[in-house]
Amino acid sequence: MRKILIVGAGQSGLQLALGLQTQGYEVTLMSNRTADEIRSGRVMSTQCMFDTALQHERDLGLNFWESQAPRTEGLGVSVAAPDAGRVIDWVGKLDGYAQSVDQRVKMAGWMETFAQRGGQLVIHGAAVSDLDYFSRNYDLVLVAAGKGELVSMFGRDASRSPYAEPQRALAVAYVHGLGPRPEHPDFDAVRCNLVPGVGELFVMPTLTTGGRADILFWEGVPGGPVDVFQGIKDPSEHLALTLELMEKFTPWEYARATKVELTDAGGTLAGRYAPTVRHPIGRLPGGGLVLGVADVVVANDPITGQGSNSASKCAAAYLAAIVEHGDKPFDEAWMQATFDRYWDTAQHVTKWTNAMLGVPPEHVLNLIGAAGELQPVADRFANGFNDPADFENFFFDPEKTSAYLASVSGA
Ligand SMILES: Cc1cc2nc3c(=O)[nH]c(=O)nc-3n(C[C@H](O)[C@H](O)[C@H](O)COP(=O)(O)OP(=O)(O)OC[C@H]3O[C@@H](n4cnc5c(N)ncnc54)[C@H](O)[C@@H]3O)c2cc1C
Repeated sequence: MRKILIVGAGQSGLQLALGLQTQGYEVTLMSNRTADEIRSGRVMSTQCMFDTALQHERDLGLNFWESQAPRTEGLGVSVAAPDAGRVIDWVGKLDGYAQSVDQRVKMAGWMETFAQRGGQLVIHGAAVSDLDYFSRNYDLVLVAAGKGELVSMFGRDASRSPYAEPQRALAVAYVHGLGPRPEHPDFDAVRCNLVPGVGELFVMPTLTTGGRADILFWEGVPGGPVDVFQGIKDPSEHLALTLELMEKFTPWEYARATKVELTDAGGTLAGRYAPTVRHPIGRLPGGGLVLGVADVVVANDPITGQGSNSASKCAAAYLAAIVEHGDKPFDEAWMQATFDRYWDTAQHVTKWTNAMLGVPPEHVLNLIGAAGELQPVADRFANGFNDPADFENFFFDPEKTSAYLASVSGA
């Protein structure tokens, strides 16, 4: 039986661990926190996942919360006007619903399942020296430790990382008591509120430790009026600030939020990081090689809500590559080819996400505006969150955007 060590029990590490376990591999999973510590800790993400990524979980029978989590059937875009009204407001229908299951619920539950199924779970924050020691006992070591310190083993790929600094300041609050969207109270949707020059406010339903809730997620342009959460320790102060900014910049969302309260003491999060693509293979001091997974190797800003989706896709791609490789050694060439296979899809996510962080060019503004008049454009844009490769066909190149809009208007 082949032995595999996975460091990091997040979306990618756990999905891979459980997938490999089902295939008969002897898997050791190293986590720096216990399931209980994760469950009772702080929120980590907004983790909205679209149909393709959810399907990878279904394929492994890991969709434990699918019937309880709200079904997000649409994705809307609102653009604020200088007078705090809206110049654009539309919602596209998703072909398959999206869902957000609080990572505190999912990772704690998956970790317990992994252990119940006989997996070796080691609670330990791994250092590079540990990996050096452990790697000799395993056929393959995968580093799925997110954006933590172990990324230092993987060199930054400057050719694929246009930004050296964080492009948004992030501030998340999980709440109960948010009212429905008055425009479409009949179905759940994520709403992306774009406030030019200021940032974005994302509002979406989730399943958290205390049941259904909603997330208010500000992404502030660094140094701007929304970049004000750093250093705030008190969760109620964090929520009060979130609401104050909503009242000022997105009053239509504030109107739904006048009765909200935090889900729990761990229901807020603030931080920032620079989007970074890294070289996928880490070399240990003793000469052993390790392969980076998901955020370790491709960390995008959450402005497009792709990280968990990408982690699921990465885990699925790596699982297939490991199984197909049979008994052959997991050497450097295999590691590079395995990452390249993931990069085939990840490159589209990175290109689109980095584009969304910049000031939108005129043809993109036209596209987003046209979606308010032409429902097929809104629907296609929304479904691009599930398959960002489609943006190549109508988003980046002004000529392709015009041709697409002309074809929809003509039809
Ligand atoms: C504010 C915010 C909002 C987001 N919203 C979305 C969204 O709506 N949709 C979406 O798809 N993505 C979203 N993301 C991104 C998404 O959460 C991540 O990309 C995703 O969780 C990455 O999965 P991963 O498996 O690579 O790493 P993680 O989920 O980060 O898991 C890594 C795990 O490794 C552990 N670890 C770290 N170091 C060590 C160590 N040395 N030893 C042992 N264990 C270690 C960590 O504690 C963690 O449990 C968001 C992110 C943020 C910050």
